[in-house]
Amino acid sequence: MTTQTVTLTGLRVAYGSGLRRVTALDGVTTGFAGGTFTAVMGPSGSGKSTLLHCAAGLDRPTEGTVTVDGVRLDQLGEDELTRLRRDRIGFVFQAFNLISTLTAAQNVELPLRLAARRPEPREVTAALAAVGLADRAGHRPGELSGGEQQRVAIARALITRPAVLFADEPTGALDSAASRQVLRLLRGLVDEHGQTVVMVTHDPTAAAYADRILLLADGRLADELTGPLTAATVAARIADAMPEPSC
Ligand code: ADP
Ligand code: MG
Repeated sequence: MTTQTVTLTGLRVAYGSGLRRVTALDGVTTGFAGGTFTAVMGPSGSGKSTLLHCAAGLDRPTEGTVTVDGVRLDQLGEDELTRLRRDRIGFVFQAFNLISTLTAAQNVELPLRLAARRPEPREVTAALAAVGLADRAGHRPGELSGGEQQRVAIARALITRPAVLFADEPTGALDSAASRQVLRLLRGLVDEHGQTVVMVTHDPTAAAYADRILLLADGRLADELTGPLTAATVAARIADAMPEPSC
């Protein structure tokens, strides 16, 4: 039996109240095994980002539990949750979210500084080298392409050696060549370092890099696909599961 790095049990998330109440997640139970790459797909508004934010401890669910690396997030106070998020969870956003006044190296070492650790220059160089950007350490985000910025964001997310890396549409703002580089990088992290990766995407080509695909519809798990996956089989299965256009 594989160990689950993340488990989600009976997750429900409701926003607002009365007539404005929206159920973003409606009873999701699943897990992400260590050293696997999962893609989360589904129409816009189906709850993908909500699921990722709850799993990463960025949002607290209305009901249900999240366990990361053996720790139940609902049993943590705010400070403990902040620490766990900083030390054990990596998160990458579609918009990169780098700090524009800092160099690539300074962005990458930021999580260590926030944890009051003095970053070893070697450690930061190695993290940038791992994403193929050893020679861009002194460049600011504005001097890097979108794909390079996203790779810096991935190096920043991995500098603390998190148990799991979450990525919410990490290739959504990238052209296909840059997307391919980012996806190969994520795949390599899983294959070569046993990293656990969970990625939201609406692109069947991106999802085909994963070992498993979860399909969300209206806040529920509608289907699950496992390998071998190709962009064509993924697109066909999505069309079957969800006759509505997906974006
Ligand atoms: P996806 O990422 O699949 O597009 P989201 O998880 O962002 O979907 O959103 C799921 C549903 O929850 C949508 O109907 C969205 O409008 C709603 N929602 C998300 N965040 C909030 C919020 N902070 N307040 C109110 N409604 C929200
Ligand atoms: Mg989203």
